[in-house]
Order: sequence, then structure tokens, then C-alpha cells
Amino acid sequence: MSARVVLLGPPGAGKGTQAAKIKEKRNIAHISTGDILRDSVKRKTEIGLAAKSYMDSGRLVPDDLMIGMIRSRMVQGDIAAGGFILDGFPRTTVQAEALDRLLEDMSLCLDAALFLEISDDEVVRRLTNRRVCPSCGAIYNVIVRPTKAEGICDACGGSVIQRDDDKEQVIRNRLMVYRERTSPLIDYYEKRGLLYRVDGAKSSDTAVRLLESIGVM
Ligand code: ADP
Ligand code: ZN
Repeated sequence: MSARVVLLGPPGAGKGTQAAKIKEKRNIAHISTGDILRDSVKRKTEIGLAAKSYMDSGRLVPDDLMIGMIRSRMVQGDIAAGGFILDGFPRTTVQAEALDRLLEDMSLCLDAALFLEISDDEVVRRLTNRRVCPSCGAIYNVIVRPTKAEGICDACGGSVIQRDDDKEQVIRNRLMVYRERTSPLIDYYEKRGLLYRVDGAKSSDTAVRLLESIGVM
């Protein structure tokens, strides 16, 4: 069974962690625009070079660039066949409208938009303690989910780092951008009857359980 799901919520709400859990259950494509962008920056591709300064300051990368990126990923064969979890896209109304058009072109419908709710204080607490493995994408937290050996990824043995944009001032900026540009999407999906709220402060399989309860997986 395929699932077509959008994950919404502020930075640090746990979109990446929940997506990984969903993927454990079903082998659905996990499309994280943040991961794709960071990889593009690392490889110094045209997109990466264009996106870097926006990302470093916590601003949004321009819509046309993001929409082009998603379009080229979504038309690959696995998406129509097996479904997708979109993590980090859409982030603006323009992006949401573009996604609707793209899905329509592909004759696909969205099953659900999951909104991970979490307070600003919790976001700051989580993100300042967050560490990531750039090699395999594993996510850790120095307080609640530390690596077994300090600085070394449990999954792949790579070095674990703090993202440049997980510094407090940049986090505050990302939260402001989220409130202005992304939070209107809650309404957008609510009006379409696709919005489901889950508590982002709770355990990391709330999204899986919600999707199971609405018959999406
Ligand atoms: P977060 O933890 O804030 O959800 P992400 O890893 O999803 O972080 O994204 C990191 C950065 O990449 C964002 O702050 C933004 O600059 C850029 N980005 C990711 N997805 C998008 C998008 N859909 N539209 C615009 N910018 C994006
Ligand atoms: Zn790793």
C-alpha cells in the first residue's frame, strides 16, 4: 500500500525523525528538501551555490528553485508507484499550490498532511541540542538521544556534527520565517480536509500511529 503524505510543523518538530519511522514500516520515498539542499551545498552544485546563503541565515530558498527541485524528484518512477513522505516541502502557499498542480499532472492525490505541533521553547531546546550525521542522515540529541560513542554515528561510524543553522539566533529566525510563511499551510490543508494534528512533543511514532488509524498505512 502506498502513502502520500506531507509533514508540516516548525523546525525541530521532528519531521525528519517521524519520516524515518514511517519509512521503517513502509518503504516509501522520504523526500527531505533540507537534506537534498545540504547535499547540493556539499557537492557545490548550481542549486547548492544558490541556496547556501539563504540556508545559513535561516531564510527560505526561493520558491522557483524549490519547486523545480521537487518536480524533478517527484517524476522519478518510485513516487507514482510507492508514494512519498514530503519533509520540508511545501513551506509556502506558492509551493503548496505548485505541489497540487504537480500531483494533478501525475494523477495522484495527497492522503494526509500531518501537522506536528510543538512550542517555541521546546524547538529551541531541541535544536540547540541536536546533532546530525552528514553521511547517513541519522539524527541525535546530546540530552535525550546521544550517540553511544561521543561524536561518532551509531549507524555508520561517521562524525556527528551540529548544523550551522542550529545556533540559537538562526533558530529564532527560522521560527519567525515559519510563522509568517509556512504556518498558513495549516489552514490550506484544513480547508481541503487533509489536515491531521499530532503532538510533536510526544514519542517519535505518533505519526505512524496516526497514519495507521486513518487507514493510510
Ligand atoms: P528545519 O529543521 O528548519 O525543518 P530543513 O532541514 O528542513 O530544516 O531545512 C533547512 C533549510 O533549507 C531551511 O532553513 C531553508 O533555508 C531551506 N529549505 C528547506 N526546504 C525548503 C523549502 N521547501 N522552501 C524553501 N527553503 C527550504
Ligand atoms: Zn551516520
